[in-house]
Amino acid sequence: MSEASIRIQDDLFQAVNGEWLKTAVIPDDRPTAGGFAELDQNVEKLMMADLSAFAKGEKTSDIPEMKYAIELYKKALDVQERNEKGISPVLPLLEKIRGLQRPQDLNEQAADFLLDGIRLPLQIFVDTDMKDATRHALNLMGPDIILPDTTYYEEGNPAGQQLLQIFSGMAAAALAKTPLSEAEQQEYLADTMAFDALVAKKVKSQVEWADYVAMYNPMDLDQAAACARPFDLKKVLTDLFADDAPSVVIVTDPRALQEMNGYFSEETFRKYVHWSYVRTLLDHTELLSEELYSIGTTYRRALLGVPTDPTLEKRAYQVVSQIYSDPLGVYYGRTYFGEEAKKDVVSLVKKVIETYKLRVRKNDFLSEATKDKAILKLSTITIKMGYPDAVHPFFSTLVFGEEDSYFDIRKKLSRIRLQFELDQLTRPVDRTRWGMPGHMVNACYNPFVNDITFPAAILQKPFYSIHQSISENLGGIGAVIGHEISHAFDNNGSKFDENGNLANWWTEEDFKAFNERTKDMIDQFDGIPFHGGKVNGELVVSENIADNGGLGVTLEIMHTLPDPDFQAYFINWAKVWCLKAKDEYIQLLLASDVHSPNELRANMAPRNFNEWYEAFDVVSTDKMYIAPEKRISIW
Ligand SMILES: [Zn+2]
Repeated sequence: MSEASIRIQDDLFQAVNGEWLKTAVIPDDRPTAGGFAELDQNVEKLMMADLSAFAKGEKTSDIPEMKYAIELYKKALDVQERNEKGISPVLPLLEKIRGLQRPQDLNEQAADFLLDGIRLPLQIFVDTDMKDATRHALNLMGPDIILPDTTYYEEGNPAGQQLLQIFSGMAAAALAKTPLSEAEQQEYLADTMAFDALVAKKVKSQVEWADYVAMYNPMDLDQAAACARPFDLKKVLTDLFADDAPSVVIVTDPRALQEMNGYFSEETFRKYVHWSYVRTLLDHTELLSEELYSIGTTYRRALLGVPTDPTLEKRAYQVVSQIYSDPLGVYYGRTYFGEEAKKDVVSLVKKVIETYKLRVRKNDFLSEATKDKAILKLSTITIKMGYPDAVHPFFSTLVFGEEDSYFDIRKKLSRIRLQFELDQLTRPVDRTRWGMPGHMVNACYNPFVNDITFPAAILQKPFYSIHQSISENLGGIGAVIGHEISHAFDNNGSKFDENGNLANWWTEEDFKAFNERTKDMIDQFDGIPFHGGKVNGELVVSENIADNGGLGVTLEIMHTLPDPDFQAYFINWAKVWCLKAKDEYIQLLLASDVHSPNELRANMAPRNFNEWYEAFDVVSTDKMYIAPEKRISIW
């Protein structure tokens, strides 16, 4: 399509990205290309080359924790050892599961199972206490289900049935490698699918998970333990924490716990055991032979619509990048992110925050009391820019013996991580921890800490460049900065105060007015048809509020520039959302992602702002026009 065939006033996303989309090819091992994905691919290439040079001794790092990262990288590349061993490394683990005759057997070993990565009938983890962000709390949730969301299980969802079949085929292929007899394999598989179906009726949907506050359900341990029977929750917690075992736990999906007796009972215990055997086996195939690895990715490939797995080198990098995230992030930041850029973006963040305060002050639906609180929250946001000054001390504990097998190393490292996370229960929240490493192409706001993180890897073109105009940078990283800050005031963030505590700082009337605007935002997106599916307005509302705030605050800054270029601003906004995706992946995102599809983010958000209409003379006959009374402005 030529520029002439698609007018920017009708479709900003296509007018800006259409030419690229026509010829872009999605790599076989990825679900997407363009925008974030392209930057991510570039970072991956760069870091793979560096890791390879480190592994060959052509390069050395002054970050001590890189030593083990490089050793793990070498081990991950050495498939010969894994191919020779086949399934054998995981068999002792599977035998432990197979040996479970009665719930009591599980209760005896459950604490150890948890640290060993064996699937339990409920998930136990430590996280920040929402009501007191200085301390931690113990959380409980139901088991993971096979399909990405409960809606996939609804009748008449063909994708759900198809995916269950693919999962079932994958599980059968993996079970065929175990010492189980053929009859046992069939029984294990049938029970796995049956147990998953029981669980799927109890756990939350993605829309329910999108409500943070609904996760905060404190319950006396006695009461929670009564729900969990015949699973002995008290014993597990005593085994894990001894005298520090909590007397109150947070139940993140109450239905799953309250109805746990329904799917986890003496009668269904065999089903659970077989389910745990199969799921635990599949969790470990990536640590085994190439053949088992490939069997184990079948379902993921179908879900994302990707025909092939990443190369061995990529996989090795991805594993190291995930486990040694901090050392790699610090290395990336120090090597590829300039101090000048860091200073420049920090000053932009400060400018965005100050402008946000002005906008809050001018806001026409809030009382002064609520405005004061919002401004206090803005004043206390912590900025984490680029990468941390030092690697977090935890990463120096991720060590292993050089003679250990790959399987043993990975199991050891995940046990160290799990133990570390559990140990946090009695420790104060460490507000210096980074939510994202420096080499990740993303950004985030954490409502429990009231901080924003911008990893070095996102601070590149088209988001940001010292060589781009300030208008372009504002439409790129500026809008992303404003987006992240707006999460402090979206439907979830608005319920947390400046310290990250779940606390109401609103007057009743103001919150009502805010909720009406939230509702308008749900309606603006709800039901928009997209690639054969539909947008769920409630699922994506927090991100749309954030986009709305991000554009609002940066457009305000645009007006203060001596020479603003509003066209360049909106064009770069559309550029950062450039994306081509596999259809399976689009469907997955529609059902489970809290973000609207990129194309809609690019095209819906601008039409709420007068500057959009003025920049391109957009009039009522243009497709990207909405009537002034329908335009939404929240922050
Ligand atoms: Zn967001």
